[in-house]
Amino acid sequence: MTKLIVFDFDNTLFDFYDVNKKGFSKAFKEVYKINADLDEVNWPGMTLKSIIVSILKKYKVSEEVINKNLTKAKKIIEKNLIDNVNKGKLLPGAMNLVLELKKKAYIIGIISGSSEKMIAAALKKEEMSSLFDFIVSGGSEESRNNVADKLIKEAQKYSPFKEIIVIGDSVRDAEFAKMLLKISAGESSASKNRIGIAGSIFVKSIGVTTGRHNEEELRSAGCDYVFNNLSQVHEILKLIS
Ligand SMILES: [Mg+2]
Repeated sequence: MTKLIVFDFDNTLFDFYDVNKKGFSKAFKEVYKINADLDEVNWPGMTLKSIIVSILKKYKVSEEVINKNLTKAKKIIEKNLIDNVNKGKLLPGAMNLVLELKKKAYIIGIISGSSEKMIAAALKKEEMSSLFDFIVSGGSEESRNNVADKLIKEAQKYSPFKEIIVIGDSVRDAEFAKMLLKISAGESSASKNRIGIAGSIFVKSIGVTTGRHNEEELRSAGCDYVFNNLSQVHEILKLIS
């Protein structure tokens, strides 16, 4: 039986920090007439929507105004990344690791708080689109945890699996792994009636310190293993297989 490998996108596979920093500022300025900055919230692992909403709330923007213009703001951030996709960096080891996993015929997916178009543009630029079976975006949700059940359903279209490996750079990725475990154990009331998984599923969580969180933070959030980056391909493969 195969395994499901789930990658986080930002600061795990790719680094688009500088691009997104400009994109968010542009959106806040053009849409809400506010000089705000991405770093005003603890953004790693947050969704596009929740980053925008959290920052605007700090500036006392009303919910009505936030929601009315949310799509417009998201589109500016999205377009900014697509226009500047060449400025993003593929992180060390990402390509090799994914190629090796692909050889083993695992199901490989991406979970991200960015939009699907942003991720697709980055993958296309590196000619990696065909290496991933699916992308699940939580960009329009409060939290990526809201699309955990969607991710499992997507993966189930490919092949049965008994093990899920989540690879990410933030404590929210470790929390996402816990959410997958809850769903597969039928403990999530939101999802248990909608997903049928026979038997128990094992979930492993691998952290990488290519983002804002260090080894200690990732371990206390629940990561089973932590690496400096994805270039330790051999060691990571050994844990997975
Ligand atoms: Mg990340």
